Amino acid sequence: MSSNQNQAVVGIIGGGLVGALNAIYFAQRGWKVELYELRPDMRLPIHRESRRGKSINLALSERGLSALRNTGLDLEKKILEASVPMKARMVHIGKNGTQMSQAYDVNGQHINAVDRARLNELLLDEAESLANVTVHFEHRLVTADFDNNTMNFMTSEGEKTYKNDLIIGADGAYSRTRAQMMRNMRMDYSQEYIDTGYCELLMPPAKDPDGKPKFALDPNHLHIWPRHTFMLIALPNPDYSFTCTLFMPFQMFEDIETEDRLMTFFSENFNDSIPLIGEAALKSDFFANPRGSLVTVKASPHNYKNKSVIIGDAAHAMVPFYGQGMNCGFQDVEVLHQIMDQHHIEPQTNKEGVIIGLEKALNEYSKTRVKDAHAICDLAMYNYYEMRHAVTSYRFLARKKLEGA
Ligand code: FAD
Repeated sequence: MSSNQNQAVVGIIGGGLVGALNAIYFAQRGWKVELYELRPDMRLPIHRESRRGKSINLALSERGLSALRNTGLDLEKKILEASVPMKARMVHIGKNGTQMSQAYDVNGQHINAVDRARLNELLLDEAESLANVTVHFEHRLVTADFDNNTMNFMTSEGEKTYKNDLIIGADGAYSRTRAQMMRNMRMDYSQEYIDTGYCELLMPPAKDPDGKPKFALDPNHLHIWPRHTFMLIALPNPDYSFTCTLFMPFQMFEDIETEDRLMTFFSENFNDSIPLIGEAALKSDFFANPRGSLVTVKASPHNYKNKSVIIGDAAHAMVPFYGQGMNCGFQDVEVLHQIMDQHHIEPQTNKEGVIIGLEKALNEYSKTRVKDAHAICDLAMYNYYEMRHAVTSYRFLARKKLEGA
């Protein structure tokens, strides 16, 4: 680096799954990384209990694994060690508990159930272990002036301003970075809620005859109870439990006002799940746990000149039925850095404070990524229909039978 050059500094807003992985990638290419996260450090014991989020576990697929693998670190191995492979979906067809296994892939490819918090912690650990990464917790982005490279945060110590060469918004579906970019540029933007909410329920481990814990259902499946306009799903956890998620129209949630109504609803629709979840746990989880909403966000372009770019849910939130939101966010990171490699982006600013070639690279990133992001948002929406309805159709089941699934 000559005396006219400075190490390039990237400010990443959001230390969730995608922001933390992106911090690792930027650090590895020699940038100084400042990661700003609004929450306190989730790894501290006092915050562990209060870190309830969007979903307890997630399906990690090859799309996301590839981005973890490309760090050259042990990330893939470490996360897969504590994951449960799901080779097929198990459709709980009728009220009598009939189950049908439908393989995801003839060659045995599978998806993996991983713990969201563990994955996030692992990524933060890896990011923080790199000398050129600083993580600022309890920093909420409030405003950004991209042309001057400055950001204002509300922190536990009051307001703070930082100046970084490039600002990356990895701050989720309700991204403040995106909102600030939209004030500066002509960004096309759409946001669409679906009339379906979700509520998580825990299916605890069962016990074998010796009293040892075991899974209450086949663990190598993503279980689905499709009921046309609503559905229950269950993903396995390494501790032998399953996290179940009930997806249904908000009005149906509201109509279930009493424990009796809840039990009638479950016995009519998901009877085989009741003894596995347990009546008392079902009642307490259903009435205590929050109802989440589901939104699709599309934005175009994803960058503003060489100043800022949005990735992950900030750029493309999608309904969770394709299990690809995080995977797609991880892929954003991989694609962004591939394009930066192709454009030979150096981790330095020149004497004018500019990173040579960056604007061209970010424009290309937007051009490449926007259409893929929109396509996967649409596929995710379609997959809701497939999961709650199409998997039960006569033609679908007949086809699966012919395929030998
Ligand atoms: P987020 O996870 O939302 O992280 C954003 C981070 O930014 C957070 O840490 C937040 O605190 C921080 N932040 C927000 N605002 C600010 C601010 N102003 N200043 C500083 N920091 C800020 N995806 C899959 O791939 N597979 C699945 O199986 C799957 N299942 C899902 C199930 C459900 C029920 C839901 C709702 C989603 C599911 N997803 C799944 C999608 C997945 O959760 C998201 O795509 C993923 O969390 C996006 O990661 P992110 O880092 O972009 O955003």
